[in-house]
Amino acid sequence: MTADPPAPHTPPTLRTPAGIAAATTGLSKVYGSGDTRVVALDEVGVSFREGEFTAIMGPSGCGKSTLMHCAAGLDSFDSGSVRIGTTELSTLNDEQLTRLRRDRIGFVFQAFNLLPTLSALENITLPLTLAGRTPDRQWLDHLVSMTGLTDRLGHRPGQLSGGQQQRVAVARALVSRPAIVFADEPTGNLDSRAGAEVLGFLRESVRELGRTVVMVTHDPVAADYADRVVFLSDGRLVDEMARPTADRVLDRMKAFDARSHAS
Ligand code: ADP
Repeated sequence: MTADPPAPHTPPTLRTPAGIAAATTGLSKVYGSGDTRVVALDEVGVSFREGEFTAIMGPSGCGKSTLMHCAAGLDSFDSGSVRIGTTELSTLNDEQLTRLRRDRIGFVFQAFNLLPTLSALENITLPLTLAGRTPDRQWLDHLVSMTGLTDRLGHRPGQLSGGQQQRVAVARALVSRPAIVFADEPTGNLDSRAGAEVLGFLRESVRELGRTVVMVTHDPVAADYADRVVFLSDGRLVDEMARPTADRVLDRMKAFDARSHAS
């Protein structure tokens, strides 16, 4: 890391020791009805602590994306509750929910989702532009230097590598200093080297900048970067692991596979 940490007047916001950045209680979601009925989430209760990097893992179709989308206020649910910080999402109307997503939640998607006609810098600052806010220069400089994008800021997404584009997307997710960043398979479209850079940056944003990150992944190597892994199976939270390593995560996933094939 080359840049100085943010000055005292711009501390990482919304961080209280041992605070909860987001939590679900008894969260359930069902798709379809009758023969096509699928219980995507079955009473999931999970908390994401401030200043922690959590990976959500589990086999394809176990409900990872649904959990992330519901926890991030992007999708509705049938029962239970979700809160971001101390705000209960069910108490918000559509406009308030839109504002909460814009101001307090950062998103990183597998497909980068950058605007092709904007420069890297314009993409990074887009959430602030949309909110009519001016970037905090020091915070922005810090993010840009951490992501190694300093000499790429005038480039359009099409002139950047996949890894660079995803680093722009991560900087964009962090620019408004959200309470929590949700990343859905952020390395799914990247080779292992570019993926490692993006994961390193996500981890640094937690360790160095005190951010909170929740990442959906199916990759044990990606989970290695997290502080904690929660495992889903058939829409239920079935296990969790602190200080994961790729090997331990892989072993745990094999054990789940063996159990589900045996049943
Ligand atoms: P994962 O992210 O772990 O692969 P998902 O959350 O995407 O799992 O899906 C959980 C379950 O819900 C799966 O059985 C999936 O087929 C189903 N599902 C997801 N989205 C929809 C949808 N829009 N309509 C119907 N079923 C869905």
